[in-house]
Amino acid sequence: MFEEELRELEENGLLRRLLPRNSPQGPVITVGGKEYLNFASNDYLGLAGRQELLRAAGAAGRKFGFGAGASRLLAGGSPLHEELEKAVAAFKMTDAALLFNSGYTANTASIAALAAEGSTIFSDELNHASIIDGCRLSRARVVIYRHRDAGHLEDLMRRERTDRKVVVTDSVFSMDGDIAPLPEIYALCRRHDAVLYLDEAHATGVLGGGRGALAHFGLAPHPRTIQMGTFSKALGSFGAFVAGDRDVIGWLTNTARGFMFSTALPAPVAAASLASLSLLGKRPGLVRRLWANTQKTAEGLREIGYDPGPAETPILTIRRRSQGDVLTLSAFLWGQGIYAPAIRPPTVREPRIRLTLTAAHTAGQIRALIKAMGEYGREAR
Ligand SMILES: *Cc1c(COP(=O)(O)O)cnc(C)c1O
Repeated sequence: MFEEELRELEENGLLRRLLPRNSPQGPVITVGGKEYLNFASNDYLGLAGRQELLRAAGAAGRKFGFGAGASRLLAGGSPLHEELEKAVAAFKMTDAALLFNSGYTANTASIAALAAEGSTIFSDELNHASIIDGCRLSRARVVIYRHRDAGHLEDLMRRERTDRKVVVTDSVFSMDGDIAPLPEIYALCRRHDAVLYLDEAHATGVLGGGRGALAHFGLAPHPRTIQMGTFSKALGSFGAFVAGDRDVIGWLTNTARGFMFSTALPAPVAAASLASLSLLGKRPGLVRRLWANTQKTAEGLREIGYDPGPAETPILTIRRRSQGDVLTLSAFLWGQGIYAPAIRPPTVREPRIRLTLTAAHTAGQIRALIKAMGEYGREAR
């Protein structure tokens, strides 16, 4: 079964393989007994391997054990889950927050719960797969607007007659690294009395001093603004949250199926997320270093003739004409001890190398990347 399908993927350069890592996540990782400079993780602040997280998780494990054993609704939660929700609400300046087991679950469960039959969801064409799946799970009408095009969104919103309108967008687009035009979208939502659902997976810990895209643009959370975010990327832990108005969170607690019918996060995971949020508060220098590293890398790439994309977030993209080209470049870098993955359809339309910078990368590691990219450029010419 599926033999032919798999062969077809392979022939089209689309077969994916798992890459086991034998070291903590970080700027240098071990794969197959060899060290590689890592430009592929979303561990933006370099927190995933930090002892503070492990210590917090260990202490929580000794107190509550590891497995949660049941859904939150059936006493699977702990005081740490509630403490974390309070910390998230304070961090996001909202009434309340609810934990989910992953960002993927948060989106599929919440979007389906918020947009019932008779609602219309407006979704950016480049939104994350979990948003697309959440839209599919909802019984709502789904209207796709052109990437970051608030004018197009406005036209579509004006034409739609339904009572409940929900606009859903990534605040940072995961494969392009560009930022949604939130001031325009936020104003549109106010004008049309629409719900704004933001996916802050790549904005949390990165934009607005770490607080996210609303803080980045100086926008206040409105009761009809819902902020979803993850602990799994810049915060170096695992799991996700949705933060918003008290009644919205109450509704999700009662109707979001991916919350209700799934075992709670282990208490040690909640503890690690708490430790990470606290680190973020205490070390504003981490976010600044992340930005300095991003700018340094983007400039270095431009100097040797590459276009790293908008470089307004730590996600830099090097686009190439063909799948083959991207795979060759990625393989060349791999040969030089650098992990910079090729991103291909169906994840994106145009194949590219996606580089992610972190606060933990050193100047020397960034120079090594630029040097290898330069060598490839000379060879290709
Ligand atoms: C990674 C990601 C998710 C999923 O989060 P996980 O915690 O990894 O499941 C959701 N949305 C966006 C935009 C993402 O990049």
